Amino acid sequence: MASSDTPETPDPPRHPVLLVAGEQIAAYGFGGGHPFGPDRHESFMRELHRCGLDGRVRRASPRAATRAELEYFHTPEFLDLVQERSASGHGYLDAGDTPAFRGVYEAASHVVGATLTAAEAVMAGEARRAFVPIAGLHHAGRGHASGFCVFNDCGVAIEYLRRVHGLRRVAYVDIDAHHGDGVFYAFEDDPDLLFADVHQDGRSLFPGTGSAEETGTGPARGTKLNIPLLPGAGDEAFHEAWLRVEAYLRAGEPEFILLQCGADSLAGDPLAQLHLSENAHAHAAARLCAIADELGHGRVLGLGGGGYDRRNLARAWTRVVGAFLEAGA
Ligand SMILES: [Zn+2]
Repeated sequence: MASSDTPETPDPPRHPVLLVAGEQIAAYGFGGGHPFGPDRHESFMRELHRCGLDGRVRRASPRAATRAELEYFHTPEFLDLVQERSASGHGYLDAGDTPAFRGVYEAASHVVGATLTAAEAVMAGEARRAFVPIAGLHHAGRGHASGFCVFNDCGVAIEYLRRVHGLRRVAYVDIDAHHGDGVFYAFEDDPDLLFADVHQDGRSLFPGTGSAEETGTGPARGTKLNIPLLPGAGDEAFHEAWLRVEAYLRAGEPEFILLQCGADSLAGDPLAQLHLSENAHAHAAARLCAIADELGHGRVLGLGGGGYDRRNLARAWTRVVGAFLEAGA
């Protein structure tokens, strides 16, 4: 117990990085040879273990997001539809990329719950950074699934941080090969959501959006940053783009930073044509920690995102966790 003349300073968390992972989110994946298979979680966990990092992070298990939490972002009609298809396990949840499977509602709710668990821990000061491998489902809109994404955990987390914790300036940074359209269009007229997205040019890749001219609408016009890269672009192009992301974030002074670190922007991904290396992901993670520290709060939450070459996703995400650990408490 501290004596009255010794001010008590809280100890820094022993493990400043929280990993939220487990079978509940590993179950989010599509069978039958679908690129977003349920084996992605295990690929990452094996690499994290191989690099000796699994023992250096604090662990938490995902919980399911409640219906009320899902409704922070999604429409009730859409949630009903997913629940119905989840019971039958038949059909698609979008035009043909995202098949329903039995239990998809529960699995997708756990992805959102995992992201909320991580955000809660960071807000409570139990961890300075957190990472969730099967998360960052950035294509889902408020009322629809899209591109392997059923519920948009990024969107729910942004609303959660605002409503529950009263934050105003949340930053969403996305380095997945695909444009984060589900997040972008949900907040395109909202000047308080800082949005920076480096991705493969929409003329050559799904979902076809995210041109540099898309800077927001209405009161948010000119406040969002979309940086499309041409197919074949590598680390040099990324670093050039990244300097703009850093300047944008410093000017915006976010109170919390979300990083969607999709590994499909690495060379060799079967679905995209960027040629980044995992150094880009490590750099982004390290720099976001530095910026969050400069801003005085240190809050960074990494979300796995896409990535369909198992070796790439395992290495890129492990490097992100490594960068979080390097950045310290
Ligand atoms: Zn992607």
